[in-house]
This record gives sequence, C-alpha cells and structure tokens, in this order.
Amino acid sequence: MRMDADEVRWPMVSRIDNVTLPLRPELVGLNPYGAPQLDVPVLLNTNENPYPPSAAVVDDIAEAVRTTAQGLNRYPDRDFLALRTELADYLATESGVRVDPGGIWVANASNEVMLHVLQAFGGPGRTVLSFAPTYSMYPEYARDTFTTWVAGRRTEDFTLDPDHATALVDQVRPSVVLLASPNNPTGTALPVATARAVLDAAAGVPGGCVVVVDEAYGEFRRPGTPSATELLAEHRHLAVVRTMSKAFGLAGARVGYLAAATELVDALRVVRLPYHLSAVTQAVARAALRHAPELMAQVGELRAQRDRWVEDLRARGLTACDSDANFVLFGVFDDAHALWQGLLDRGVLVREVGPAGWLRVSIGTPDEMAVFGTALDEVVDQ
Ligand SMILES: *Cc1c(COP(=O)(O)O)cnc(C)c1O
Repeated sequence: MRMDADEVRWPMVSRIDNVTLPLRPELVGLNPYGAPQLDVPVLLNTNENPYPPSAAVVDDIAEAVRTTAQGLNRYPDRDFLALRTELADYLATESGVRVDPGGIWVANASNEVMLHVLQAFGGPGRTVLSFAPTYSMYPEYARDTFTTWVAGRRTEDFTLDPDHATALVDQVRPSVVLLASPNNPTGTALPVATARAVLDAAAGVPGGCVVVVDEAYGEFRRPGTPSATELLAEHRHLAVVRTMSKAFGLAGARVGYLAAATELVDALRVVRLPYHLSAVTQAVARAALRHAPELMAQVGELRAQRDRWVEDLRARGLTACDSDANFVLFGVFDDAHALWQGLLDRGVLVREVGPAGWLRVSIGTPDEMAVFGTALDEVVDQ
C-alpha cells in the first residue's frame, strides 16, 4: 500500500528524551525529500511512465532474477562490465554516439549517480552551480557532500542565458555544474550552443570543473533537439546522465547511469560503496535492455500526447511551457494550491513544484489524461 508521505514526515530532532543525538545542525528541522505518495486513481505527479512492463518483459525479468538468485551467496560483479557494455550499445542506438563501456557508470538510479559525482568532485570548500528553477534534489546532493550550493537564474521563459551562465561559472569557479536537459520542472531543453558555452567556461576554471548534463528525460526530446552525448568526444569534463526510471518505465528498479570519459568514471569507482549495484539490479536492467525497442515504443506515443496537451492547455487559455520531457508545466494561477487540491478531490494527483503559480502534470495514458482534462475544466470553471 502506498503511504502518504505526510504520515512519515517529522521534524528532525536532536534530542530524544534525555539523550542528545549529534545531528548535523543543518539537518535539524528538515523533512525527508519526496513527492506525496497518495492512494489516488490518477497519478500524474512523479513523471513515471504510465505503462507497466508487458508480460514478455515481466517474464524475462523474472527468469533473470531466478537465475541470479542461485548465486546470491556471492557478492555481485563489482564492475558490471556486461551491463555497461549493453548500456553503451543502447546509447549508441538511441543517440548515435558510441561511448566506450569503461565510460559508462551505473548506480541505483541517476540520483545516486549524481551523488557519486559530487562525492568525487565536490566537497568542503568547493561549489556546485546550477540554475533555478530546477530539480529539487540538486541542493540535497550538495548538502550531503558538504559542497557549497549556488543557484543562478533561468530567464522568464525558463531557458538558460549563456552570458549569465558563463559569467557565473567565471565568478563562482564551481567544481561541478549541474544542468538538467530537459529541465525539471519546466521541460526546457538546453541548446547545444549553451552547453558548449558552459563547457568552455568550465574548462577555464582553475582546478577544473565537471559539467553534468542530466538527461533523465532525454528519450522524450522532440525531433531536432540534440543530446549532449554529441559533445562527449570533444569535452572530457562532461558527464551525461540518463536513467531507466522514465522512458524505460522502470522507476521501481532504480537503475541510472552516466556516460563520460573513462578517467572521469574511474573517479566515481573510488567513491562508490562496495558492490553498490546488486546482482538482482544488474540482472533486471540487462533483461529490460533486451526489450528496449518494445519499451521505447510507448515513448513516441507519450511524446505525441505531450505535444497535444501543450496545445490543449493553451486552448484553455492557460500558459503551458514547451516540453521536451514527459510532463508539462502549466499555469499561471493566483492560487495554484487550490487548483492542485481541486484536482486531488477529483482523484487526480499532479505536482505542486517550481515557481509560484505553476503546476506540473506528468503525461499519463489517454484515459488518465481524459480524467485530468475533465477535472481541470471543472476546477478552473469554479
Ligand atoms: C526523475 C529525475 C531524475 C531521475 O531519477 P532516478 O533517480 O533515476 O529515478 C533525475 N533528474 C531529474 C531532473 C529528474 O526529474
């Protein structure tokens, strides 16, 4: 059963009865991160793929786990080269860019991949730079690795102004820059020229700077939107992050990866926990990858739905951001919370995230989107 996240929230304390816990002062009073997990018929709040794996995928995963289970007395393959090779093959097919398997890194979803980047390249006395509004987990990687967090601004239409971005890189001298493309929660892709400008500025930072382009939603990009993987060959300080959580429909499996220079990946191998990627996770990922064409077939349909919903929301007189992801940011409401609540009362959960007045809806199945549309009309008309 899904639990309401609010039920497990508590203000973190540093005293229990008469004992003091040496909680880091910056953690006092904080809540664990997470979107509410409510038991609601239409879940459009965490950008999951609405289509569960097919029976054929489930069978293949189950068989792979059964085989793996027979060897679970042993630690897993620490360097999981088979999985890295298969991910390199997938990336070559998906983006046309071939990366050496040694330049692929995998962890328990892309959040852990990026934490590894901060563990290796951030740290006390160092800075990580990003541009708000953006993914709300980024400041948490900074906090958890004692790295200073600096956020520049996106423009009014949520794009990144290259002059602002490069000026800030020159000024702040970060050791890591985090750029989501497409950006969450806005859906905005990063033009290659902007990525190049940031990479060039980063190359001039004394002591070096790793630029992460987080393409968690990369597969949903519109035709003509390039992937930052195209820049890997010329920029050895670039890491492109991907995940199986969104397009692959495997959010529950926790598999994310990045592509970068082998030397950059070798640094991540130093900071990862021993045997961090379980044998079961490796088996599940490899089984799912064998079905990549089938799993990806729905991506095209979701993209088409997304484009239609951008238009539909605009036809309702709302503002909807262009999106290269499987979600749409829309607004602008005087009281976005009231609208969110109105949708929830009608069984539809969207996300209250990002700039004030906006809401984010993940693209669901056509049936789910129809329920969303009806609920939205009712609430907006109220
Ligand atoms: C969903 C998301 C991720 C991926 O999360 P996983 O840890 O791979 O499930 C990464 N970056 C952004 C911007 C996201 O929205």
